[in-house]
Amino acid sequence: MRIIGLTGGIASGKTTVARLFEELGAAVVDADQLARDVVCPGEEAYQAIVATFGDQILQGDGTLNRAALGAIVFADPAARRTLEGITHPAIAQQAQKRLAALRAAGHRIVFYVAPLLIEAGVTSRVDEVWVVYLDRETQLRRLMARDGLSREAAQQRIDSQMSMEEKRRYGKVVIDNSGDLAALKEQVLRIWREEVEMSVSW
Ligand code: ATP
Repeated sequence: MRIIGLTGGIASGKTTVARLFEELGAAVVDADQLARDVVCPGEEAYQAIVATFGDQILQGDGTLNRAALGAIVFADPAARRTLEGITHPAIAQQAQKRLAALRAAGHRIVFYVAPLLIEAGVTSRVDEVWVVYLDRETQLRRLMARDGLSREAAQQRIDSQMSMEEKRRYGKVVIDNSGDLAALKEQVLRIWREEVEMSVSW
């Protein structure tokens, strides 16, 4: 089974691209979804977070108050490292479980979608890295539209990340999502044919 790490900047189109590959027959594992799953009440990481940060980071219904936890770790790098020391191993373990299940089910191609694949230094866990790229102005516009952000707030989020120009250098394959959806679909199909169908020997 070939595991392709799919990454890119905020609002670059990772989810959209992954869905297109899924339609072509690939399986998809989403690291953001795993990150949400491992902190659900009852999970080991949830218990460890509550034991470390206290009830103040819980909502009335017992689920994690992400905003409260976010405010703590944003202001305190040591607390951030502690939190990541809990969540990262849990996410990695969950990812291994999902990948093992997909392998057992006979899947040949899996996209592991992870925004911070490069920054987190986990590129060695995938067979290759593909990057969704787009020009900065388009990225800004899509981020503002999707999240209802001002231009300044969107700019700030983009600037807090590795630049797309730097990120694209890590990609064995770079998918340019600066155009419209039709152009993206066409590109994804071409890449699928060249990179997946041509390289699979049945
Ligand atoms: P994040 O990691 O920030 O959650 P992402 O990289 O998964 O984002 P998407 O959610 O796939 O990005 O796309 C960001 C936004 O841009 C979405 O609102 C999506 O519908 C839109 N979008 C993606 N590709 C295109 C395109 N080619 N044309 C127009 N809109 C697009």
